[in-house]
Amino acid sequence: MYNVFQYITTVSLVGACILGDEAQKTESMVYGHWRKALADNLTHAVVSGLSWLLVLDIAGFTSRYGMLELLLSIVLGSVIDLDHFITARSVKIMDAVSLPSRPFLHCTTLMILLFQLLLLTSVYFQSTLVYRLSWILLISSISHHTRDAQRRGYWLYPFGSTRSIPYWLYIFIIAALPQFVRLFVNETGRKQFASLHLNQDENDRVNTV
Ligand SMILES: [Zn+2]
Repeated sequence: MYNVFQYITTVSLVGACILGDEAQKTESMVYGHWRKALADNLTHAVVSGLSWLLVLDIAGFTSRYGMLELLLSIVLGSVIDLDHFITARSVKIMDAVSLPSRPFLHCTTLMILLFQLLLLTSVYFQSTLVYRLSWILLISSISHHTRDAQRRGYWLYPFGSTRSIPYWLYIFIIAALPQFVRLFVNETGRKQFASLHLNQDENDRVNTV
Protein backbone atom coordinates (compact mmCIF):
# COMPACT_ATOMS: atom_id res chain seq x y z
CA MET A 1 0.00 0.00 0.00
CA TYR A 2 1.19 3.48 -0.82
CA ASN A 3 1.72 4.81 2.69
CA VAL A 4 2.49 8.31 3.98
CA PHE A 5 6.22 7.54 4.19
CA GLN A 6 6.26 6.57 0.51
CA TYR A 7 4.32 9.69 -0.45
CA ILE A 8 6.60 12.09 1.49
CA THR A 9 9.78 10.40 0.23
CA THR A 10 8.56 10.50 -3.40
CA VAL A 11 7.73 14.22 -3.10
CA SER A 12 11.19 14.81 -1.54
CA LEU A 13 12.81 12.84 -4.37
CA VAL A 14 11.13 14.88 -7.11
CA GLY A 15 11.76 18.08 -5.10
CA ALA A 16 15.48 17.23 -4.77
CA CYS A 17 15.73 16.83 -8.56
CA ILE A 18 14.02 20.14 -9.30
CA LEU A 19 15.89 22.08 -6.58
CA GLY A 20 19.22 20.53 -7.59
CA ASP A 21 18.67 21.42 -11.24
CA GLU A 22 17.72 24.99 -10.33
CA ALA A 23 20.73 25.36 -8.00
CA GLN A 24 22.99 24.17 -10.77
CA LYS A 25 21.66 26.81 -13.16
CA THR A 26 22.34 29.54 -10.60
CA GLU A 27 25.79 28.16 -9.83
CA SER A 28 26.78 28.09 -13.49
CA MET A 29 25.93 31.77 -13.84
CA VAL A 30 27.33 33.05 -10.58
CA TYR A 31 30.11 30.72 -9.44
CA GLY A 32 32.84 28.56 -10.92
CA HIS A 33 32.86 25.03 -12.31
CA TRP A 34 33.72 23.44 -8.92
CA ARG A 35 30.61 24.84 -7.26
CA LYS A 36 28.45 23.74 -10.18
CA ALA A 37 29.98 20.23 -10.16
CA LEU A 38 29.55 19.92 -6.38
CA ALA A 39 25.89 21.02 -6.54
CA ASP A 40 25.28 18.46 -9.30
CA ASN A 41 27.10 15.71 -7.42
CA LEU A 42 25.30 16.42 -4.16
CA THR A 43 21.98 16.17 -6.03
CA HIS A 44 23.03 12.80 -7.52
CA ALA A 45 23.86 11.53 -4.02
CA VAL A 46 20.57 12.74 -2.48
CA VAL A 47 18.48 11.38 -5.38
CA SER A 48 20.19 7.98 -5.16
CA GLY A 49 19.73 7.84 -1.37
CA LEU A 50 16.05 8.83 -1.49
CA SER A 51 15.44 6.28 -4.27
CA TRP A 52 16.85 3.47 -2.12
CA LEU A 53 14.96 4.79 0.91
CA LEU A 54 11.76 4.28 -1.12
CA VAL A 55 12.80 0.68 -1.79
CA LEU A 56 13.60 0.11 1.89
CA ASP A 57 10.44 1.72 3.29
CA ILE A 58 10.31 2.26 7.09
CA ALA A 59 10.59 -1.46 7.86
CA GLY A 60 13.70 -1.86 5.71
CA PHE A 61 15.29 1.36 6.95
CA THR A 62 15.02 0.31 10.58
CA SER A 63 16.23 -3.22 9.80
CA ARG A 64 19.75 -4.46 10.59
CA TYR A 65 21.50 -3.25 7.42
CA GLY A 66 19.04 -0.50 6.38
CA MET A 67 21.31 2.43 7.29
CA LEU A 68 24.35 0.80 5.69
CA GLU A 69 22.45 0.16 2.45
CA LEU A 70 21.25 3.76 2.44
CA LEU A 71 24.81 5.07 2.93
CA LEU A 72 26.07 2.81 0.17
CA SER A 73 23.42 4.07 -2.27
CA ILE A 74 24.34 7.70 -1.44
CA VAL A 75 28.06 7.01 -2.00
CA LEU A 76 27.47 5.05 -5.23
CA GLY A 77 25.22 7.76 -6.67
CA SER A 78 28.02 10.25 -6.09
CA VAL A 79 31.24 8.35 -6.94
CA ILE A 80 30.10 7.62 -10.50
CA ASP A 81 31.29 11.13 -11.41
CA LEU A 82 34.85 10.31 -10.30
CA ASP A 83 35.31 8.67 -13.71
CA HIS A 84 35.55 12.19 -15.19
CA PHE A 85 38.80 12.70 -13.26
CA ILE A 86 40.04 9.15 -13.88
CA THR A 87 39.49 9.47 -17.65
CA ALA A 88 41.00 12.98 -17.72
CA ARG A 89 43.95 11.74 -15.59
CA SER A 90 43.78 15.08 -13.87
CA VAL A 91 42.32 16.60 -10.72
CA LYS A 92 41.59 19.89 -12.48
CA ILE A 93 37.89 20.52 -12.88
CA MET A 94 38.31 22.05 -16.34
CA ASP A 95 39.99 18.85 -17.59
CA ALA A 96 37.27 16.72 -15.98
CA VAL A 97 34.35 18.62 -17.54
CA SER A 98 35.83 19.03 -21.01
CA LEU A 99 36.38 15.41 -21.99
CA PRO A 100 35.95 14.63 -25.71
CA SER A 101 33.72 11.62 -24.90
CA ARG A 102 31.74 10.39 -21.92
CA PRO A 103 33.66 8.56 -19.16
CA PHE A 104 33.18 4.80 -18.66
CA LEU A 105 30.94 4.75 -15.54
CA HIS A 106 28.39 6.78 -17.53
CA CYS A 107 27.87 3.85 -19.92
CA THR A 108 24.39 2.53 -19.07
CA THR A 109 24.94 -0.84 -20.79
CA LEU A 110 28.10 -1.41 -18.69
CA MET A 111 26.15 -0.78 -15.48
CA ILE A 112 23.33 -3.11 -16.57
CA LEU A 113 25.95 -5.76 -17.36
CA LEU A 114 27.54 -5.34 -13.91
CA PHE A 115 24.09 -5.53 -12.33
CA GLN A 116 23.35 -8.79 -14.17
CA LEU A 117 26.71 -10.26 -13.15
CA LEU A 118 26.03 -9.45 -9.50
CA LEU A 119 22.51 -10.83 -9.81
CA LEU A 120 23.76 -14.11 -11.25
CA THR A 121 26.42 -14.28 -8.54
CA SER A 122 23.75 -13.80 -5.87
CA VAL A 123 21.62 -16.60 -7.31
CA TYR A 124 24.61 -18.93 -7.67
CA PHE A 125 25.79 -18.37 -4.07
CA GLN A 126 22.23 -17.89 -2.73
CA SER A 127 23.33 -14.60 -1.20
CA THR A 128 20.69 -12.03 -0.21
CA LEU A 129 23.51 -9.56 0.50
CA VAL A 130 24.83 -9.67 -3.09
CA TYR A 131 21.24 -9.68 -4.40
CA ARG A 132 20.51 -6.40 -2.60
CA LEU A 133 23.91 -4.99 -3.61
CA SER A 134 23.07 -5.61 -7.26
CA TRP A 135 19.83 -3.59 -6.95
CA ILE A 136 21.59 -0.78 -5.04
CA LEU A 137 24.10 -0.57 -7.90
CA LEU A 138 21.28 -0.51 -10.46
CA ILE A 139 19.21 2.19 -8.73
CA SER A 140 22.27 4.39 -8.05
CA SER A 141 23.59 4.20 -11.61
CA ILE A 142 20.24 4.46 -13.43
CA SER A 143 19.09 7.41 -11.32
CA HIS A 144 22.46 9.10 -11.96
CA HIS A 145 22.36 8.35 -15.71
CA THR A 146 18.74 9.53 -15.94
CA ARG A 147 19.62 12.90 -14.39
CA ASP A 148 22.47 13.21 -16.87
CA ALA A 149 20.24 11.99 -19.75
CA GLN A 150 18.15 15.15 -19.73
CA ARG A 151 21.28 16.88 -21.05
CA ARG A 152 23.12 14.17 -22.99
CA GLY A 153 20.83 11.15 -23.38
CA TYR A 154 21.67 7.58 -22.28
CA TRP A 155 24.96 6.12 -23.51
CA LEU A 156 24.13 2.58 -24.66
CA TYR A 157 27.47 1.33 -25.98
CA PRO A 158 27.85 -0.33 -28.55
CA PHE A 159 24.46 0.90 -29.84
CA GLY A 160 25.28 4.61 -29.51
CA SER A 161 23.44 7.20 -27.45
CA THR A 162 19.81 8.25 -27.21
CA ARG A 163 18.76 11.84 -27.62
CA SER A 164 18.37 14.05 -24.55
CA ILE A 165 15.22 13.03 -22.73
CA PRO A 166 12.46 15.58 -21.97
CA TYR A 167 12.34 17.01 -18.44
CA TRP A 168 8.96 15.40 -17.63
CA LEU A 169 10.26 11.98 -18.69
CA TYR A 170 13.38 12.37 -16.53
CA ILE A 171 11.22 13.20 -13.49
CA PHE A 172 8.83 10.33 -14.28
CA ILE A 173 11.65 7.76 -14.55
CA ILE A 174 13.26 9.00 -11.30
CA ALA A 175 9.92 8.69 -9.45
CA ALA A 176 8.96 5.33 -11.03
CA LEU A 177 12.35 3.57 -10.75
CA PRO A 178 12.20 2.88 -6.96
CA GLN A 179 8.64 1.51 -7.31
CA PHE A 180 9.84 -0.87 -10.02
CA VAL A 181 12.94 -1.94 -8.05
CA ARG A 182 11.07 -2.51 -4.77
CA LEU A 183 8.85 -5.09 -6.51
CA PHE A 184 11.94 -7.19 -7.21
CA VAL A 185 13.82 -6.51 -3.99
CA ASN A 186 10.92 -7.08 -1.65
CA GLU A 187 8.77 -9.67 -3.45
CA THR A 188 10.97 -11.63 -5.86
CA GLY A 189 13.91 -11.44 -3.44
CA ARG A 190 11.81 -12.83 -0.65
CA LYS A 191 10.61 -15.72 -2.84
CA GLN A 192 14.05 -16.25 -4.41
CA PHE A 193 15.74 -16.75 -1.08
CA ALA A 194 12.81 -18.10 0.89
CA SER A 195 14.11 -21.66 0.66
CA LEU A 196 17.54 -20.47 1.82
CA HIS A 197 16.06 -18.73 4.84
CA LEU A 198 13.94 -21.75 5.64
CA ASN A 199 17.02 -23.95 5.47
CA GLN A 200 18.94 -21.50 7.71
CA ASP A 201 16.07 -21.47 10.20
CA GLU A 202 16.12 -25.27 10.17
CA ASN A 203 19.89 -25.28 10.77
CA ASP A 204 19.55 -22.73 13.57
CA ARG A 205 16.90 -24.90 15.19
CA VAL A 206 19.07 -28.02 14.89
CA ASN A 207 22.09 -26.15 16.29
CA THR A 208 20.22 -24.77 19.27
CA VAL A 209 18.63 -28.09 20.18
ZN1 LIG B 1 27.39 12.10 -14.11
